Amino acid sequence: VIEKRELVSLLRGATNLQAADCVGDALFLRAANTRSRAYGDAIYLRALIELSNFCRRRCAYCGIGAFNRDLGRYRIQEAALLAASKEAAACGYRTVVLQAGEDPELVGKAGSRLVASWIRRIKETGIARVTLSLGAPDGDALSRWRDAGADRYLMRFETSNPALYGALHPGDSLRARLRDIERLQTLGYEVGSGMLVGLPGQRIEDVANDVLLCRDLDLDMIGIGPYLPHPAAPLSSKSVPKEVSGSELIYRVIAATRLLCPRANIPATTALETRDRTAASSSGDRARPSVDAAGQLRALRCGANVIMINFSPQSVRRLYALYPNKATDLAGSEATIALENRTAAAGYRAAVDHVGDALRPQVDAR
Ligand code: SAM
Repeated sequence: VIEKRELVSLLRGATNLQAADCVGDALFLRAANTRSRAYGDAIYLRALIELSNFCRRRCAYCGIGAFNRDLGRYRIQEAALLAASKEAAACGYRTVVLQAGEDPELVGKAGSRLVASWIRRIKETGIARVTLSLGAPDGDALSRWRDAGADRYLMRFETSNPALYGALHPGDSLRARLRDIERLQTLGYEVGSGMLVGLPGQRIEDVANDVLLCRDLDLDMIGIGPYLPHPAAPLSSKSVPKEVSGSELIYRVIAATRLLCPRANIPATTALETRDRTAASSSGDRARPSVDAAGQLRALRCGANVIMINFSPQSVRRLYALYPNKATDLAGSEATIALENRTAAAGYRAAVDHVGDALRPQVDAR
């Protein structure tokens, strides 16, 4: 059992874990071993479709928040959504992830019926699992979508510090977010949550608490992303405390989360890849193509086991701009093949056609 004090020093890169073999690279090795005991060499791929960039929220970090009046807004047409799902199914995918801003036209009463009909139609295309990430909807939408066949839901708690959560999410509270996450669990969804690392106002103790909260919530999926400042978002003018700003921290957070949550599906996030590419090009390295996937491969070596491939229609991909420099050049089947090759060269097996359910709670993957 890792206690908070130990976890903090582990995240700082200090040498203080009871089994003193967990220092530096050894931490990553141990996390990778834990991952492979649970999931072998398989990397689960999911097809991501970004439904809409309309959002009624004003999350201080996010580029598609309601405050951004300069952003062109889009909402996908049903035909384009079904075409993207069929393309994913044709590439062998069995899971699609439908993500969007908290769009009133999707999460309100009428909209939630529309989403329910989309879920049913996607399942008819041969897709076995539908994951939703549409924010906190109104009324009984979560149960309607579950009844329509949605299997999983992603809703990050973003930070476990209630004061920081309140400052970043005007009109919302951590308590309400956690209540929604609990409701998802009650409704029988496979539930994903997670956090942002490197936020202005965040302390290393907060990050340790985030990892502990992931364990306490007994999550099926855990998304851990680096905060990437978006120039149009209010938070971008604020500086990040030194103790959470290092580029290595996120990898230690992924590894520690894998040790504490051995059964969870943990994605190597797109934000991580974006950060890595942005850092490489600003440090003078030749801009790397997105097939490089260096940040994501590193995350796999630290215990991650899932990668999402973008299947959004090309015309809207650049508009789903949560943060700058998001890689949008490669998507769909091309990106799938490129990733299969990259992961195979690194010793993994990209299991496109695996439904990729999380292991059950009683399975002890340690
Ligand atoms: N509307 C849904 C929700 O709020 O759960 C899903 C979409 S939301 C844009 C998806 C995730 O993007 C958020 O949970 C947040 O962690 C991440 N995100 C937003 N802005 C970001 C930024 N500037 N840097 C990194 N990640 C960001």
